[in-house]
Amino acid sequence: MSQYLLACDEGTSSARSVLFDREGNVAASAQIEIQSTFPKDGWVEQNANAIWDAQRQSISNALDQLGAHASALHAVGITNQRETTIVWDRSTGEPVGPAITWQCRRTADQCAAINGSSDAARIQARTGLKIDPYFSATKLRWILDNSPDLPKRAKDGELAFGTVDSWLIFNLTDGRLHAIDRTNASRTLFMDLREGAWDNELLSYFDIPLEILPTIAPSSGEIGYTSGDVLGVEIPIAGVAGDQQAALVGQGCTTPNSAKLTYGTGAFLLVHTGTEVQVSKSGLLSTTAASLGDSDEFALEGSVFSAGSAIQWLRDNLDILSTAAESEELATSVPDSAGVYLVPAFEGLGAPHWSANARGALVGLSRSADRRHIVRAALESIALQSYDLIAALEEDTGDRIAELRVDGGAAANDFLLQLQADLLDRPVARPVDLESTARGAANLAATASDFWLDAHYEVDRRFEPSMSVTNRKSMLDGWYAAVDSVL
Ligand code: ADP
Repeated sequence: MSQYLLACDEGTSSARSVLFDREGNVAASAQIEIQSTFPKDGWVEQNANAIWDAQRQSISNALDQLGAHASALHAVGITNQRETTIVWDRSTGEPVGPAITWQCRRTADQCAAINGSSDAARIQARTGLKIDPYFSATKLRWILDNSPDLPKRAKDGELAFGTVDSWLIFNLTDGRLHAIDRTNASRTLFMDLREGAWDNELLSYFDIPLEILPTIAPSSGEIGYTSGDVLGVEIPIAGVAGDQQAALVGQGCTTPNSAKLTYGTGAFLLVHTGTEVQVSKSGLLSTTAASLGDSDEFALEGSVFSAGSAIQWLRDNLDILSTAAESEELATSVPDSAGVYLVPAFEGLGAPHWSANARGALVGLSRSADRRHIVRAALESIALQSYDLIAALEEDTGDRIAELRVDGGAAANDFLLQLQADLLDRPVARPVDLESTARGAANLAATASDFWLDAHYEVDRRFEPSMSVTNRKSMLDGWYAAVDSVL
């Protein structure tokens, strides 16, 4: 009997394969690093073949850990770094060039031109996104424009475009299936968010032939079958979602107004908004949530650009920490930050302040301040920025989130999570399994393939708010004064 469900978790820095048993426990997990290259200022690329090789190798390493053969696999779920754009030859499966990753800013000028035109508002309303180099549309346009024969080959149906989920599906099926899941499609700027379908007007606006696009598939269902030549077994690909949407599922946030926040390099907030698209007044994105039911579900998304990276900065640039984990001990060795605030606007500020030109600041220093106060201020800045994001989101929806579910590397920090609960004045819950992304992909596949029924969300610790109203207000007042000083 097939015993394991395979989650392929293809992230920006590594490809991971996680095997879940029938009780929903992690039985094995293997990870292979992936390199990015930075050929010019603001450009970020990866080798698409290296992405697939790493994923494939991590699958076999995970199976090896259990001494198992692929015949032990029941189904596959996929989750991936979103927006990263790959074009390949349909018949040979060879990429026509590097993968242009989500971080790549090479199309900033094209996006600025669109933003300066009357088309921007219409595109945003249709897609739920902003016009930004982050999303796939201008990356695909750039690839086609930068090689003389590609536009014709695209029209002739010789080329395939895909995000990383499409690329993995194509390879897992040995080229038989060219598909993209709806959450990933919702990040391209080609999809009508409400319809869940490619939008002809947007395609003609970006001059993209329909022939190059993958078929849009649901996030949970029998999307295709792996090829026996590739995995050694034909099993259903039964769940696919972009990483943030998969984390939402992995955190059990599948009903309206449930929310998760991932504290990684940046911090990503997603709140489920049910079957209606909600439009933000504070610059949050509307996006497709991975749907477990029959109808499409949606989410609002916002991000803090510098979260864990503020801690990395203290460690790597200021040299006042030896490890990220040490930040907790230092921060809790003083009763407060002695009026010090760090505004980590290293890359500008996102929602709800929206200032691309703002830069970081350390304010409120007195002669007695030392590295402990600065470290504490850095952790506080993660919670304060996340607080701002959630406050903006709640103003948009008019609903209060009852509890915030958190994950990501910095969610290991108890001080941070307690402060987050204090600022929000509500519980913050950390699950036992911090790998929400892989679990989400596994849940989507498990539901569609009858593997397990329980979502297995288990709380490790729930942080209850305990800060007085006066203290909260004074901390927030100091923060807003510090933010104002950089705007
Ligand atoms: P990503 O997926 O963006 O690479 P991770 O989820 O792996 O990020 O988290 C890594 C980030 O979390 C780093 O920026 C690091 O500084 C931060 N981090 C890791 N552990 C801690 C900790 N105990 N306290 C605070 N920050 C931490």
